[in-house]
Amino acid sequence: MTVIDHPAFDAHEHVVFHNDAANGLKAIIAIHNTARGPAVGGCRMWPYADELEGLTDALRLSRGMSYKSALANLPFGGGKSVIFGDPKTDKSEGLWRAMGRFVESLGGRYVIAEDVGTSPADMEIVRRETAHVSGIAEGGSGDPSPATAWGVYVGIKAAGRSRLGREDLKGLKVAVQGLGHVGYELCQLLARDGAILCVADINRAQIDRAIGELGATAVDPDKVYDLDTDVFAPCALGAVINDATIPRLKAAIVAGSANNQLAEARHADALRVANILYAPDYAINAGGIINIAHEGPAYDKERAFAQVSKIHDTLLEIFALSEAEDVSTATAANRIALQRLQATVGQAA
Ligand code: NAD
Repeated sequence: MTVIDHPAFDAHEHVVFHNDAANGLKAIIAIHNTARGPAVGGCRMWPYADELEGLTDALRLSRGMSYKSALANLPFGGGKSVIFGDPKTDKSEGLWRAMGRFVESLGGRYVIAEDVGTSPADMEIVRRETAHVSGIAEGGSGDPSPATAWGVYVGIKAAGRSRLGREDLKGLKVAVQGLGHVGYELCQLLARDGAILCVADINRAQIDRAIGELGATAVDPDKVYDLDTDVFAPCALGAVINDATIPRLKAAIVAGSANNQLAEARHADALRVANILYAPDYAINAGGIINIAHEGPAYDKERAFAQVSKIHDTLLEIFALSEAEDVSTATAANRIALQRLQATVGQAA
């Protein structure tokens, strides 16, 4: 199979392979679209089984970033990079500097950030070779998780308004799966507004913290799908919405930060059939990248979070289109994102 024949190719502008044997770097940068601005997207380090698996990940994730940034009305295109290697054993200063030179060679068309298997500390090393790095602590916008949590919080309000006819969270029952950087912060915001929290995590310390600080009740991670709550907020893993879990869900709303929540695209339709309102993951979890769009010497948290709050209205638009066109909310989100992307491409032509 050639790159252009790949099912996920979808008119990518630029796909570059790089090999720096001296520093143990084998990587791909995929740039899907730069009509709206530089292609911003994380760098994933993973022990891919083969080249095709890494290429598939890069192409899918890069296209996803174009849609995410377009939907959030950001001046960014979509891109992603992958490094072939085990993040536990294969990292070195040489590897990150080589990756930095690879990014630099594209002259700013791609802006790298952390992702699965990479960290802000790695990006600090990348920055020694290129300025095209985002989401770093020093001189950047820092940890994106609080902004992501804020976006999910306003997104839950939008979903509550659309499905339950209420925006206030007092007494609203929310099951939160995953109390990590985003999940715990989300719980704090929800608890402040009087929501009733039921939480699941494989990390007992986080559970105890949520019980002690937020008055949450805990549930076994395997039982979180069965809870009789208003909202299910997946904030841990991908693919948690699948054939096995959908029949178990009693919540009226699925709204959380996790990436790739649907095991397959068809599960968006299955949620609709089950009368569960799904807040599409890439719409509700865009707070982090919106925050990155404000990065720079004049970073102003208040302004950044005000823009993150617009996720609320974007979701209302998605829910309305889904109703009007009788399609899943995921299809509605894709249609709006594609329209925004095509409008920019049209302007640039
Ligand atoms: P994190 O690693 O800080 O937290 C994940 C939490 O999930 C951990 O506490 C972990 O113990 C828990 N967990 C793992 N397996 C679990 C299971 N089976 N059941 C219950 N809990 C389990 O990650 P994060 O930064 O909080 O991100 C959470 C999700 O949101 C991820 O899917 C991430 O890709 C997505 N996301 C995060 C951001 C961000 O700004 N951090 C932005 C967009 C999307």
